[in-house]
Amino acid sequence: MTWRTADVLLLRGGTVVTCHGRTPADVLVREGVIEAVKAGLPAPPGAEVEDVRGLLVTPGFVDVHVHLRDPGALDSETLESGLEAAAAGGIHHVFCMANTDPVNDAASLTADLVARARRLSPLSLHPVAAVTRGLRGTELTDFAALKAAGAGALSNDGLPVEDGRTLRRALERAEEEGLRILVHAEDRGLAGDGAVDARAAVRLRAKGIPVGAEDVGTARDVGVAVEARLPVHVCHVSTMGSVEIVRHARRAGAPVTAEATPHHLLLTYDEIPEGDTDFKMNPPLRSRADVDAVVGALLDGTITAIATDHAPHAPARKAAPLDRAPFGAIGLETSFAVSHTALVATGRMPLERLLGLYVEGPAAIAGIEAPAVATGRRASINLIDPDAEWEVVPARFRSRSRNCPFKGRRLRGRVVGVVAGRSLRRF
Ligand SMILES: [Zn+2]
Repeated sequence: MTWRTADVLLLRGGTVVTCHGRTPADVLVREGVIEAVKAGLPAPPGAEVEDVRGLLVTPGFVDVHVHLRDPGALDSETLESGLEAAAAGGIHHVFCMANTDPVNDAASLTADLVARARRLSPLSLHPVAAVTRGLRGTELTDFAALKAAGAGALSNDGLPVEDGRTLRRALERAEEEGLRILVHAEDRGLAGDGAVDARAAVRLRAKGIPVGAEDVGTARDVGVAVEARLPVHVCHVSTMGSVEIVRHARRAGAPVTAEATPHHLLLTYDEIPEGDTDFKMNPPLRSRADVDAVVGALLDGTITAIATDHAPHAPARKAAPLDRAPFGAIGLETSFAVSHTALVATGRMPLERLLGLYVEGPAAIAGIEAPAVATGRRASINLIDPDAEWEVVPARFRSRSRNCPFKGRRLRGRVVGVVAGRSLRRF
């Protein structure tokens, strides 16, 4: 099923939910712009009426951490399949990382991604360009040219910016251009060629990554930013130590932000089946205490965004021993459902708060206007069934990859429709 378009669209009978609260209301969209949000709206002549009774009508989601494999590994993901997967997950703003082949370190590559995405989908693609050329060494990319070409942020994700002085210089230049740096905080020397958290390495017969690899990386990156009094965003925080470093910096007033991934909210290393590479990601799955610390950080506002770190790898690439398989798990199509299952269905967080972690929080980090179900705004709307119970079957995914650690799980809550501008689809 693909997008259909409607010049005039009335979403009738739903409940509009935002991070501030909920109210029963119809939503009228004309030429892709929200014209009215009000209960009992009459259908204008020629309007397409969509029955959304029983559904929640929310703003579209923002995901600041997505890997598409285009260019370079189209068997794992293409721009098209990745944007399809994003649609199915209700993710309207996709920030795609630079570690493709070739690396997105030039304005021409960034501009090409933006132009191709516009032809493929009504969703918004924001390329995250590399901080340094080829993700190597110390030569910064041309931040001004990248921004002009449509880059939404800067990151060497997959790798840290190894040299602290280079990171400092990058933070300064990024501030001048109004771009945020997203850091993959890791001490590569400590991480070595580990595959799983060191505490699970014996059971899984794989090489271990010590917790310190993340903690030391976070301390270094946050320390550089705090000293420079410049903003930095820490990707995929997964340890108690990293949470404490970010919390401490934020309490001291530093402009440090952080994200958590859905898999680090729901899974621990105890749930990794021996030899199953779909559970191999970086940072690796952690202990129950780490999971609780990350959830605590979402509850107290230390972490202000959930981001998938969607990292597709074709089945043939993942078919390897744990020590040799590539890092990464897909997440676009399960993101909201996993978080909803872990946080809302368990009563730990109201849905309104969770929406803040998918909309306002990540939008503020990336410096874009947060989608809103409000008069005068471009339609960027999700239709959500909060009671839907469904089983994760990766074979049905729109992503080209199947490396999903939630396979076979039952989740609660699902995105069942998306409106983006004049385009609409139901799932
Ligand atoms: Zn990363």
